[in-house]
Amino acid sequence: MKYPKQILEGIKNYLLTERSNLNQKLLSIKSQDPFSDPERTNDNAASDTEAQEESSHDRLEALEKELQLNLREVNQALERIDKDSYGKCLSCKSFIDTERLAVKPTALYCVSCEAKKNTNEYKNSL
Ligand SMILES: [Zn+2]
Repeated sequence: MKYPKQILEGIKNYLLTERSNLNQKLLSIKSQDPFSDPERTNDNAASDTEAQEESSHDRLEALEKELQLNLREVNQALERIDKDSYGKCLSCKSFIDTERLAVKPTALYCVSCEAKKNTNEYKNSL
């Protein structure tokens, strides 16, 4: 079984748009980060500003990590479309529900494997 070409084309377009959105957001985060500002003076007398910059740097860094993760998922999904393996669960090799893919087009596992995976991760984190 394979997904109809039309559906795949639609998903691919969505992913490509998503990818350029993510790249744009990443660029704007980099430009907002006070630590990446070359004009920033190191001998900042006001420690208040310093602390503020630090916390906004942490916040931006967390956001950047999340966006990069999303970007990786989008790239993986695009690669899987090109390799004709899109929509196949990485674990049990069965096809992922189209409803699930509609909600999360970058899903790599079917609902039941994802649930198992989460339970294992939860167990491992205990
Ligand atoms: Zn599965």
